[in-house]
Amino acid sequence: MAKAPRSEEQEPLTPKQLAELKTILTQRKRKIVEAEEQLLEADREEGALRHADEVDLASAEWDVTVEHRMRGRDVALLKKISKALALIEEGAYGECENCGNYIGYKRLLARPEASLCIECKEEQERVEKSFMKEQPIDNPFSFE
Ligand SMILES: [Zn+2]
Repeated sequence: MAKAPRSEEQEPLTPKQLAELKTILTQRKRKIVEAEEQLLEADREEGALRHADEVDLASAEWDVTVEHRMRGRDVALLKKISKALALIEEGAYGECENCGNYIGYKRLLARPEASLCIECKEEQERVEKSFMKEQPIDNPFSFE
């Protein structure tokens, strides 16, 4: 179903804008990765102290424990950022994955990991809201 796109969103990104967004994405990715590494480092030290004489057991269970402790929100964002960076490499960045219209520079500047244009995003939010009303659950990914 073709939608009438908002006129200001029908401009493809210029090479300069693309480079700018790539820099923002790369910086955000690094920041999250660094924050996670610090968190994991703190966990390791804490664990090393607590399990000083249960080292074998601790290391065996460690990977699973750490993964569960990673903040779901950052992990979800990191996935989106990695996907956006991959799309830049493919030359397909900036297009809505739902309708194929340009997402638009302004929106990407505010949310460079966005994979939907504003109209499709609003549509998705409407669907999510009606779903949440029917089944009120604690959704950790409702931050967008
Ligand atoms: Zn769209």
